[in-house]
Amino acid sequence: MDINDLLQQQKVFFNSNETKSVAFRIEQLKKLKSILKSNEDSLYQAIYEDFGKSEFETYVTELSLVYHEISNYIKNIPKWSKRKRVGTNLVNFPAKSYIIPEPLGNTLVIGAWNYPYQLSLLPAITALAAGNTVILKPSELPKETAALMAELINSNFPKNYFHVVEGGVDITTELLNHRFDKIFFTGSTKVGKIVYQAAAKHLTPVTLELGGKSPTFVLDDTNVKMTAKRIVWAKFLNAGQTCVAPDYILVEKTIETRFLEALKAEIENHYDQNYTDAPNYLQIINTTNFERLVKLINQDKLYFGGQTNKDARFISPTILNKVSFEDEVMKDEIFGPILPVISFSNLDDAIQKVKDQPSPLSCYIYSKSNTTIKKILKEVSFGGGAVNDSLMHLSNSKLPFGGVGLSGIGAYHGKTGFDAFSHQKSILHKSFWLEPNLKYSPYSNMKLRIIKWLMG
Ligand code: NAD
Repeated sequence: MDINDLLQQQKVFFNSNETKSVAFRIEQLKKLKSILKSNEDSLYQAIYEDFGKSEFETYVTELSLVYHEISNYIKNIPKWSKRKRVGTNLVNFPAKSYIIPEPLGNTLVIGAWNYPYQLSLLPAITALAAGNTVILKPSELPKETAALMAELINSNFPKNYFHVVEGGVDITTELLNHRFDKIFFTGSTKVGKIVYQAAAKHLTPVTLELGGKSPTFVLDDTNVKMTAKRIVWAKFLNAGQTCVAPDYILVEKTIETRFLEALKAEIENHYDQNYTDAPNYLQIINTTNFERLVKLINQDKLYFGGQTNKDARFISPTILNKVSFEDEVMKDEIFGPILPVISFSNLDDAIQKVKDQPSPLSCYIYSKSNTTIKKILKEVSFGGGAVNDSLMHLSNSKLPFGGVGLSGIGAYHGKTGFDAFSHQKSILHKSFWLEPNLKYSPYSNMKLRIIKWLMG
């Protein structure tokens, strides 16, 4: 693959102005939706081969979001791409002022593996909706899904508009040597830094969707059973391989035992503890991650679960108890089905511990007390989250989705995403019928007084 040639072709196409047409963009999104719909069986098959993801989970956590966002953009592109009138200040009278949202140009989207369709296609759709060209580099780890996306997109869209480039670190490094008008990256903080440095060489704007350790506060006034149900679903969905999964729990000491029992009961209700439950539970993506995760299961702190099977890359839903911030499992984002539980007696101390860590991508609070909820929301910095729920905030495309600090730069979903791939071109549009001489020489005290009065 000659990246230079591909990018040149996309530059030429972008400069033809075709992508600036709203009708063109809508037509392309409709086409993409129809391609995905008519190949759904292959999409389910590929992801099942990669890591045992069922049709149910693939639809609910990937394709439904992709379809919804395509429809959302088809409906809103005309409005969001329209120029917007804004007021004009007195000093410019007579004139009108407006903002033209315009595409940035040639964009690069780099996807992560854990939701391989959603994390590659959502940013790509957003870039196309805003009128850009796209080179999409999905993660190389889920081989079948990456190959299928390449096949479906590359055989249906012209290379100079929307093209998938498959490959790992070497290809990404090569792509990053080129000058794009926008880079959208989803992945780890470590690689995010590499992408940011490469982008800086060309002053290319970035959106970095990164990870982190997302805390979950469980307060003693919560509905324990419902809290456990929602946390267990959010944590063990995708076998914990979710960037916004509750990474660890901070539970108030007074309800610790009851809460642990409720977690255990919920796991027993929903998951088989042996690898016989394929449609409901995923594999770990590869052996490297499997081995990394197994090392995090400290047998001295094992409360529940801990069954593993290397051949099947299976780790059962696992709870660790009496964990401290010094434990190995608290050093990095877990990204697997291991849930450490830390108890606390003083909320201020617990908040301080969270504040001592880098700002996470998400945070969840389970409580009925508005005072407590407001206190945590005010004091803890994080990308986004939910009160009395986990994960579901990302399904509302009206909520910007992104991190802060080490968990990312920028955000997307819905209008926020559209804006992330657009430039707001600001125009002051004058007429010729009046030209006050105020700003021209010769200067005078009188002119200065008037300008001072006008400008405030
Ligand atoms: P990763 O950073 O290892 O890989 C992401 C992408 O970067 C892949 O396409 C990969 O090919 C490429 N890459 C890897 N190493 C590279 C290098 N040295 N130079 C250039 N490119 C390189 O991340 P991952 O393992 O795919 O995903 C897991 C991480 O992503 C977790 O930290 C998770 O929290 C985060 N994540 C964030 C979000 C979000 O929306 N914020 C979503 C999913 C995952």
